Amino acid sequence: MEELEKRKRQPLERNPNPCPLYRKCGGCQLQNMSYPRQLHWKQELVERLLGRFHKVNPIVGMKYPYHYRNKVQAAFALNKKKQIISGVYQASTHRVVPVESCMIEDETADQIVGTIRKLMKDFRMEPYNEDTGRGLVRHVLVKRGFVSGQVMVVMVTSSPILPSKNNFVKALRKAHPEITTILQNVNNRPTSMVLGDFEKVLYGPGYIEEALCGCVFRISAKSFYQINPVQTEVLYDKAIALAGLTGKETVLDAYCGTGTIGLIAAKRGAGHVIGVELNRDAVRDAISNAKRNGIKNVYFYNADAGDFLSAMADEGESVNVVLMDPPRAGSDERFLTSLVALSPNKIVYISCNPETLQRDLHFLVRAGYKVKEIQPVDMFPHTNHVETVVLMSKVQE
Ligand code: SAH
Repeated sequence: MEELEKRKRQPLERNPNPCPLYRKCGGCQLQNMSYPRQLHWKQELVERLLGRFHKVNPIVGMKYPYHYRNKVQAAFALNKKKQIISGVYQASTHRVVPVESCMIEDETADQIVGTIRKLMKDFRMEPYNEDTGRGLVRHVLVKRGFVSGQVMVVMVTSSPILPSKNNFVKALRKAHPEITTILQNVNNRPTSMVLGDFEKVLYGPGYIEEALCGCVFRISAKSFYQINPVQTEVLYDKAIALAGLTGKETVLDAYCGTGTIGLIAAKRGAGHVIGVELNRDAVRDAISNAKRNGIKNVYFYNADAGDFLSAMADEGESVNVVLMDPPRAGSDERFLTSLVALSPNKIVYISCNPETLQRDLHFLVRAGYKVKEIQPVDMFPHTNHVETVVLMSKVQE
């Protein structure tokens, strides 16, 4: 609380050094504000939306709120002088805004993209042109494990043929020995999706590994992984602490993705964990992550979370703790109705959208749950995204 009061007293000044691309790029909506002011803005938003359920803890910000993104995606194009540029699409257009370095992206990743720009010239690889359908390189995707130091580079091309492939890989590795794997992904469709279906490993194992909260996770080109690893630890530590596990509980990890939260819970004192996730690839990754970490008290299912919970409720099953981390749209009534029927003592709700969180908390409060703690965590400094973890417990009759 003291910290919040201190922050409130700070002058709500403007950011003296906003990024020069602030307006064109549109990725960092709050860059015109100083970092303390951004935190204040997010705190007020959460208080306005959720304050009626419970007092809101002060948001946990980052000590160093820069270069936190472990995943960087660059689009390629030619400028008017026919030079190769790389960067981001200008907000709601398909014009590439050149980016040399970005304040929130990993610096190594930005340097690798810069090297690829130079190598493309040497190797005569043309950037792909969406209008004409000509050219080869559509995107470059770089993922870096901040703890493991492993680096993945994905060359997204319009055709499976990458000329002088071996020499290109050699030159890239020479310039950046920290790269541990290189892939080619072929996307030959007219789509705004970055990755296509076909993937070929050009160097290394085809994936990277990263440590998080004492577990190791495999990250592939397509799998979802939280983009701010520093704050993810803060968020998950808080979520697990709120769950208050003693070693006996049956824990349900709903919307579990690649199983991160559930696996950490399984390792940190859950009796056993049941994970449910709609995306089949993510479930496959979750199962291999369980094996990789030698965790046996966990079971993953590929299903719609609402269907799965309603089947569990119909069979008269019960769970003690539910950890849920739905997408921006929040949960749905089918899920929430079955959740109430399963009657867990505790619900830990992780949300990336305080508006749908407000709606879902309202439902659960009317159904007999009480909000016990609300903790916002700044996962995405300089953007307007707000992450919150909430503990609810069943009101005893
Ligand atoms: N907890 C994970 C993933 C959270 S993202 C992590 O932090 O890594 C939300 C997840 O919900 C995504 O993996 C998405 O595929 C999944 N999802 C979306 N709708 C779903 C549904 N109806 N049922 C189950 N999972 C769903």
